[in-house]
Amino acid sequence: MSRIAYVNGRYKPIHKASVGIEDRGFQFGDGVYEGVSVYRGQMVDLDPHLDRLDRSLGELSMPAPMGRRALVQIFRTVILKNRVRDGFLYVQVTRGEAPRDHAFPASVRPSLVVTCRRFDFGAIRARAETGVSVLTQPDQRWGRCDIKSIQLLPNCAAKTAARDAGAFEAVLLDREGYITEGSSTNMWIVKDGALITRSTDDNILSGITRASLMGLAQKRQIRIEERRFTPQDAVEAQEMFLTSSTGGVTAITTLDNSPIGTGTVGPVSLALIDAYWAHMAQAPD
Ligand code: PMP
Repeated sequence: MSRIAYVNGRYKPIHKASVGIEDRGFQFGDGVYEGVSVYRGQMVDLDPHLDRLDRSLGELSMPAPMGRRALVQIFRTVILKNRVRDGFLYVQVTRGEAPRDHAFPASVRPSLVVTCRRFDFGAIRARAETGVSVLTQPDQRWGRCDIKSIQLLPNCAAKTAARDAGAFEAVLLDREGYITEGSSTNMWIVKDGALITRSTDDNILSGITRASLMGLAQKRQIRIEERRFTPQDAVEAQEMFLTSSTGGVTAITTLDNSPIGTGTVGPVSLALIDAYWAHMAQAPD
């Protein structure tokens, strides 16, 4: 069965779906996106994702393509048409098609693309619990990483460097040598029973998984410190993990080939992985 995409009012087989070559997303990266997990047929943390989409659009003075209800209806239809029970929904809004000009056009209809693909969450959870390796890379992104923009070239380059070195994710370092976040994940360490993660006003994406995990940790009376930390802090911590909608909470066992703590997955990470999967299963849609 061919995958079905929604593109500007139409549902089409993915290889037949297209936008114009003067779409500003194609020419300028002038667009924003969201990625939502679909677990047991339900979208996980849908409202926070929609809130973040609205915020990204607003920060770039881009109109929403339509109201929230209509948007969610399209999400549901794409999930159904692709027969996805466990998977990942991708939503992209660009400023639309206009003759090429750097300045934003006065009035143009935004482009909306929605796709969905299957995920093997069993394999994802197994990887999360086994732990992954990460590799540091310079953070070469722009100053508005709080906006979920489709301009992801520095993220892609960093992730490729990590993959080529046999690591799962790149850990981005700011000019002072502090960890900002991963190429598509938020970073955490566990030190003396507390969770440490960078605060969101510091040019990182405010992860939805990050926010959900904070709620889950608070319920379990786990202390959270929002502050920056270095790779050295990570290696000297007891545990490290990353969060994202695609993988939930994923344990990290080595950074630049140095073991984190004992180099095995620790009890706090395992407890939070468990808590997050329980949260996914409860997702109201
Ligand atoms: N940081 C970046 C740069 C990302 O691209 C993502 C995932 N899109 C995240 C963090 C994690 O965010 P979320 O938990 O909302 O998936």
